[in-house]
Amino acid sequence: MKKIAVYPGSFDPITNGHVDIIERGSRMFDELIVLVAYNPTKKSLFTVEDRLAMITEVIKNYKNVRADCFSGLLVDYAKNAGANVLLRGLRALSDFEYEFQLALINRRLNRDVETVFMMTGYKWFYTSSTIINEAASFGGSVEGLVPEIVDRKLKEKYKK
Ligand code: ADP
Repeated sequence: MKKIAVYPGSFDPITNGHVDIIERGSRMFDELIVLVAYNPTKKSLFTVEDRLAMITEVIKNYKNVRADCFSGLLVDYAKNAGANVLLRGLRALSDFEYEFQLALINRRLNRDVETVFMMTGYKWFYTSSTIINEAASFGGSVEGLVPEIVDRKLKEKYKK
């Protein structure tokens, strides 16, 4: 049986912390789907299309990784995609409580889908999309923390 995992998140935008999880995840699973999970009522910096375009560029050299978007219950998406793993990354302690809740509700919703956590690479311990957006919005350099295409898009966005 093929091991297919879904890596869901906002990816607003994708950071090198996310890329680290994707790279390691691609070696663990036969197929990995990076899923822009969105809520149409929630405000975001980049549109779903922009976020997908950046992810697609970043993953272009990984043969077993693809990107998709979805609004709804994650376990439903996973089931339709034939995936039985939800992959999540863990950073500082602050991630733990929310991730615990999410994993438990998803298990309650579908016992066949298991959440797997990967510890962040130490370099990305404090890297989050929010903090990167904030730094970039004030003209700070986020080079080295995000893929090149994201750095470019952030500069374009905040130049205006
Ligand atoms: P959210 O679920 O809050 O929208 P994100 O979209 O930013 O979170 O991230 C999706 C997943 O990637 C989450 O599991 C999150 O913990 C993880 N993640 C985010 N940033 C990093 C990082 N720097 N290192 C490892 N994992 C990360």
